[in-house]
Amino acid sequence: RLYNEIQDLKGNIRVYCRIRPFLPGQSRKHTTIEYIGENGELVVVNPTKNGKDNRRLFKFNKVFSPAATQEEVFLDTQPLIRSVLDGYNVCVFAYGQTGSGKTYTMSGPSVVSQEDWGVNYRALNDLFQIAQSRRSSIIYEVAVQMVEIYNEQVRDLLSTDGTQKRYPFIIIIFTDLRVSMLDILVAVTASGLHSQPNGLAVPEASMHSVNTTADVLELMSIGLANRAVGATALNERSSRSHSILTVHVRGTDSETNDILRGSLHLIDLAGSERVDRSEATGDRLREAQHINKSLSALGDVIFALAQKNSHVPYRNSKLTQVLQSSLGGQAKTLMFVQLNPDVDSFSETISTLKFAERVS
Ligand code: ADP
Ligand code: MG
Repeated sequence: RLYNEIQDLKGNIRVYCRIRPFLPGQSRKHTTIEYIGENGELVVVNPTKNGKDNRRLFKFNKVFSPAATQEEVFLDTQPLIRSVLDGYNVCVFAYGQTGSGKTYTMSGPSVVSQEDWGVNYRALNDLFQIAQSRRSSIIYEVAVQMVEIYNEQVRDLLSTDGTQKRYPFIIIIFTDLRVSMLDILVAVTASGLHSQPNGLAVPEASMHSVNTTADVLELMSIGLANRAVGATALNERSSRSHSILTVHVRGTDSETNDILRGSLHLIDLAGSERVDRSEATGDRLREAQHINKSLSALGDVIFALAQKNSHVPYRNSKLTQVLQSSLGGQAKTLMFVQLNPDVDSFSETISTLKFAERVS
């Protein structure tokens, strides 16, 4: 076990808070965040109140200021990601209101250069590098799935109406120069083609083998394009659905034939903002109810796990059902809690922080 730096966590759940910067062109720059401490402290000011009870202190495992770079954020995520190679199931969530930087943290800005890469590209890149550099007899295979949950329905983002060809699940990563081509063929034949990946209860979603970060970038752009299908200017779908990128890793020891499986789920959650019940009607209201239900079900599951309750209510939403085998037990969870610093977002900020406080 090489990458177990994050073993000592209470219930293996940690919460990182990230505050996005004010964006260029945003004219008023009044922030509701008064203080960010070195040890995960955060003080939020209520702009509508004066006096001494207008401040609230929160504490998480870490708070990233608006100045934090993508690289800094990833460095604190890396040990968790790497534990996938030791056979752990890991979930990384981004939670927050629309516009708070969830997609930025998980993927990057809409036009992404390597410097701006979010957690997902960096994670895959890192896994490939580690897998290739490990001096051992273990051969790693990596495959990805990408699904969206919208109105409690799961949709495969990497297949177009079933017409898109499925990539075979084959060996991709080759870690040891001492292993010959013949060994790889033997390993593929012995264990490769009919893999039973664990960690995602959507067996019907297409599985795509990847061996370079370029493959991942290509697949993700397909997934993101598919996610936009059905979206209109008024109904920007990505903020109303959860997207889950699952990375399955399987390590086969070419000497003993032992197999070790780990999975990494990278989840960009639907926007957590409260929808005004008096204004939303029809589809919009239905979407809002589904989102509410699934986010509170997620909160309940993580809360139950943190409390070490014997009953964990996985069945209450599609999201928690799909992730059931990767939440709890030996699994590790990281929640990025995203905040918009603007005073106008104060009430959403407080409700986001209360959600985070409950699960941490
Ligand atoms: P969400 O996915 O939560 O709706 P986005 O990730 O789309 O939010 O972020 C909203 C806007 O803010 C985007 O234009 C994004 O590029 C920008 N943004 C978010 N976080 C940062 C950051 N840390 N640094 C620079 N720009 C950011
Ligand atoms: Mg987004």
